[in-house]
Amino acid sequence: MSKRDYYETLGVEKGASKDEIKKAYRKKAMKYHPDRNPDNAEAEAKFKEASEAAEVLLDDNKKSRYDQFGHAGVDGQGGGFGGGGFGGGGGGFGDFGDLGDIFGDIFGGGGGRGRGGRRRSAARPGNDLQMSLEVDFSEAAFGCEKNISLTRLAECGTCNGTGGKDGSQPVNCDMCGGMGEVRRQQGFFTVSQTCPKCSGAGQTVSDPCGTCHGDGRTRKKTELEVKVPGGIDHGQRLKLTGEGDAGSKGGPSGDLYVVIDIKEHDLFERDGFDVHCTIPVSFSQAALGAEVEVPTLNGKVSVKVPTGTQSGKKMRLKGKGIQRLGGYGNGDQIMHIHVETPQKLTKEQEELFQQLASFDSDSSHPMSNGFFDKVKNLFQ
Ligand code: ZN
Repeated sequence: MSKRDYYETLGVEKGASKDEIKKAYRKKAMKYHPDRNPDNAEAEAKFKEASEAAEVLLDDNKKSRYDQFGHAGVDGQGGGFGGGGFGGGGGGFGDFGDLGDIFGDIFGGGGGRGRGGRRRSAARPGNDLQMSLEVDFSEAAFGCEKNISLTRLAECGTCNGTGGKDGSQPVNCDMCGGMGEVRRQQGFFTVSQTCPKCSGAGQTVSDPCGTCHGDGRTRKKTELEVKVPGGIDHGQRLKLTGEGDAGSKGGPSGDLYVVIDIKEHDLFERDGFDVHCTIPVSFSQAALGAEVEVPTLNGKVSVKVPTGTQSGKKMRLKGKGIQRLGGYGNGDQIMHIHVETPQKLTKEQEELFQQLASFDSDSSHPMSNGFFDKVKNLFQ
């Protein structure tokens, strides 16, 4: 198979400048790099082809030979490609010479994929913690301040966090030499794993602190004050930055997440920023209309139940709901009217209801009237 022209491979003119060639190659490399196209033989072939073209065209010597003699002028020279091993563990693209700079631009970090040589720091961030906080319905509605108590890892007071007895400093782990990881050969590959001796910290304490056994942290019970904003809903989380477990050996502390658990209310039920409640009214109040006292989150208010109110009617009290979290205004209170049918009648009440029943008319009960008409039609 004849080789494609190098200029054509990169998509540049014959007189292209070095910058243009680099730019064109960077574009191809980004597209076809094996890291971005795992297990794609076609991409790998294209990547090799572009790399080979760039290697020749960016080298003044090779370029002039190529320009004069074509592929014959450079074949068998350099020879770095193909043997280098894409996809192998840790090897990187060591043979690329100048191209390494371009890889540095593209992939950051020196062109290679190898990750050797980076020393681990012993500092480790602390864990994030989560706890739940029970608040009353109205505390959640209006906001409150709560004291919470939790047990978390804090700097060891005996060794001031160093983990060493009498404040002695940690030393490099002798198993991994401070790398935090050890390597072993497995077939063609080198496999890295977290050092079992120092658990990846890279450092060990020769004479550990008796209180924290070398960790530099101990469990401590702590009290904190939490500001719960008004309008918070059940299940929402508050983040207390830096209030989680302390970091190890100078690492940053984790965060504390407080999950809000709202206690149920006897009268109110919440739906977003609206509150719902059921208002019982008597038969006569519903029939005649009445002024009733209704509870709200901020005290009682008087509400007019209109004449002829049906059970299940919804009435809305604007702005009597929960304050919107971080916003303006409040939700509404929605009242569900429940007309209570009297039970356990006195003799007198019974007589009055019987008397009332004898006066029931179509016009006073339009729904029943319509309903029985429909039933009649159904069975005709
Ligand atoms: Zn200690």
